[in-house]
Amino acid sequence: MECSNCGKDAVIRINWKEKNYCVNHFKRYFLGHVGKVINKYGVSGRVMVAVSGGKDSSTCLEALTHFENIEVVPFHINLGIDEYSEKSLEVARQACEGIGLDLNVLDLKEKYGKTIPEINDQRDAKVCGICGMIKRYLMNRYADEKGYDYVATGHNLSDEVASTFNNLANVYLTPFRGLKPVLEEKKEYNLVARVKPLYFLKDRECLVYAETNNITFFSEECPLSSGSPTNELKEWLHKLDSERPKILRNFAKSFMRIEERMDTDHEELKRCDNCGYATATEVCRFCRVLDLSS
Ligand code: SF4
Ligand SMILES: [Zn+2]
Ligand SMILES: [Zn+2]
Repeated sequence: MECSNCGKDAVIRINWKEKNYCVNHFKRYFLGHVGKVINKYGVSGRVMVAVSGGKDSSTCLEALTHFENIEVVPFHINLGIDEYSEKSLEVARQACEGIGLDLNVLDLKEKYGKTIPEINDQRDAKVCGICGMIKRYLMNRYADEKGYDYVATGHNLSDEVASTFNNLANVYLTPFRGLKPVLEEKKEYNLVARVKPLYFLKDRECLVYAETNNITFFSEECPLSSGSPTNELKEWLHKLDSERPKILRNFAKSFMRIEERMDTDHEELKRCDNCGYATATEVCRFCRVLDLSS
């Protein structure tokens, strides 16, 4: 397979473009799509990147270093999930070292007294729901306390479309409101702006970018994961996408437009009585789960 631009060996075929790409031209394609998010929404300043050690967050971190108006700050949460968390931290550090950045680490046990397995032992709720909430809270809080302009996460096009279909399948429409590449800050609730730089890039494109740019990542599954329902949906979507190459992008564009038309006026936020961060209840879920309220 030859690159459609220069004739060198190609590393990937992008079906919706009907083109093959060599390492260099694929990098240009990939960063061009990251740039679409960065430029369209005017993302600049200090961007804190949540680095888990997985391929998407490490790729997101490296990709953002190519934009001059962005200062990248890597951030990792040690969740205390035994060897899995130790390995995640080690790999996240290596990914940062590879591009000359220091990793900022928040240790959940040290700072708040409990690991994710300890929290899990005390509750019936699904652990991933709680873990996700804790990560979102801590990313926002850390970025807010440090005065960063954005929190960036490695969600890609495949993740976004699959998780939206999963929410639709469960008649759960609240997260629809977050379905766009950038969420504006809400200073009155200490909510830092969020950006998903890989929003227009598929799973496979992120993997090939990571592999061809020597980005360190690991693909071990978390031992607490009970198998994500979105994985099946992703397979189904990727199959559809191989037959109709623009369908995934078109789903995402449609979801964004629906999101823009949704009425969000009735969304009531207040400040947590305990920590002061945004919540819909008197005391936020983070403070309740970690028993922080007195
Ligand atoms: S799989 Fe679940 S428990 Fe494990 S890190 Fe992810 S969200 Fe947390
Ligand atoms: Zn080429
Ligand atoms: Zn709180």
